[in-house]
Amino acid sequence: MEVLHGNRISAQTAIGQIRIRMEQTVRVQPVPVADTEAEIGRYEAAVRQAAAELRALSERASRSIGPWNARIFEVHAMMAEDVDYRGKVTETIRERRVCAEYAVELTGLHFAGMFEKMEDPYFRARSQDVKDITDRLIRILLGEKTSVDQDRPYILAASELTPGDLMRQDRSCILGIVTEQGTAYSHASILARSMSIPALTGIRIDPSWDGHMAILDGEKGCLIIDPDSGTVKEYLRITAERAASDSEKDEAEAGQALTKSGKRIILRANIGDETELDAAVTGGAEGIGLLRTEYLFMEAGELPGEEEQFRYYKSFAEAMKGQKVVIRTTDIGADKPVSYLEMPHEENPALGKRAIRLSFDNREMFRTQLRAIFRAAQYGNVAVLYPMITSEWEMKEIVRTEEEVRNELRSEGIEVPEIPRGIMIETPSAAVISDRLSEYADFFSIGTNDLAQYVLAVDRKNAAVAKYYDPWHDAILRLLTMTVQNAHRKGIPVCLCGELAADPAATDRLIALGVDELSVAPYLLREIRRSIRACEV
Ligand code: PEP
Ligand code: MG
Repeated sequence: MEVLHGNRISAQTAIGQIRIRMEQTVRVQPVPVADTEAEIGRYEAAVRQAAAELRALSERASRSIGPWNARIFEVHAMMAEDVDYRGKVTETIRERRVCAEYAVELTGLHFAGMFEKMEDPYFRARSQDVKDITDRLIRILLGEKTSVDQDRPYILAASELTPGDLMRQDRSCILGIVTEQGTAYSHASILARSMSIPALTGIRIDPSWDGHMAILDGEKGCLIIDPDSGTVKEYLRITAERAASDSEKDEAEAGQALTKSGKRIILRANIGDETELDAAVTGGAEGIGLLRTEYLFMEAGELPGEEEQFRYYKSFAEAMKGQKVVIRTTDIGADKPVSYLEMPHEENPALGKRAIRLSFDNREMFRTQLRAIFRAAQYGNVAVLYPMITSEWEMKEIVRTEEEVRNELRSEGIEVPEIPRGIMIETPSAAVISDRLSEYADFFSIGTNDLAQYVLAVDRKNAAVAKYYDPWHDAILRLLTMTVQNAHRKGIPVCLCGELAADPAATDRLIALGVDELSVAPYLLREIRRSIRACEV
């Protein structure tokens, strides 16, 4: 039994087998073969098996995470059957007279390397797909069942995971996530939290753990490899107890969140996509405080059209039955790239073309998203929120675009309601000029994840500078105070949807500062509701 300590991402626990996903290195030997045609036959059989496995996975994932999210497995099946990849493998077997495993390994490295060098981020991202498929084919050829039981959920261990990597996994199979890189504020960690996946970062991964049993204790921030039976029993008891006490508390704790002095704090959920809706509803969210629409854009292989977006937003509006649904226009860019938009390499992507800047540069995309949001507003209590605002001119541009889109819809006979407009306060300039920005907004939503990164000049996903990333820094608290005062002077409410809202130790301070609403990952709703109720303010 070995215990390793890392950084806490979510206070949940997972018990299961570890599955390692590290960068691929050559690990099969070039065994010479005499009958190359028979070897090619063996390879073709492996391709058929891989495609069948992937299609079965796609079907299973489709039921658990929806057909949209499951599409990646269908794409993998098609890539396994790709003519160029197969041509290269058979050519290598014939010309070098080597075993299929080695030919697949070389072909995988060749194509993955080719994709990695491409300018276009869409093609660059395909290199990981090639590696996944190559791994699967080799496993099948080696007759390895892999040390991990494929049908059983597992704890995924990787050097680094991006939000895109996380979305490419079958969520129903993931018990937990352990990574070497990343911090509690990187988007992948936030996504893991909002998907309710136990997670840890800052753990040095040993590839020999593949297939070993482990306990991921998100509360203590440790990973226990090969736990002894007494430890497993103890953890099973703790998790069962927690589940039972959570459901008891659910009964007692449903309803509004009032502080001890009777101040009502609205508590909503941050969500990435429809798979998190159930958890938001059962957790008693008073609406969705932040719908990160970029995940819809990232999961798609192409720009989602108006109808698709409209149906997507409408489903949230209807599911929340009159409770507010705050739809943020897409925050693509930085560590959330999409493959199909022109996004040249940037030296400092967090300071580059991201969020509203990308929407401005892709006018049609922006107008289409607004049309879809406005149309969906007919079906519920919808508000629109704009990310990464820094200046007044941006708000003027937004107001003008909203007006244009609304007139266009009207001319088509579609009457859309006026909906509240929110501004993300997540850049230092937005906080400093929040008095002026309040003229353009019906509410503010403070994004402390970015605000801290930009105020403190600390990359939110760089583990090497994590100790400098302090959302409690006085500079941030002063900006929060200033923002709340400016908003209240104008009579508009302030929500806090950054991860600071999810820290129970921050609740009373935030309420004392005057924050009106908190929005947190669905699984934290109960805990934060409890902290609000314990608050003396
Ligand atoms: C934030 O920056 O605090 C925020 C809520 O937005 P995101 O984490 O999606 O950048
Ligand atoms: Mg942000």
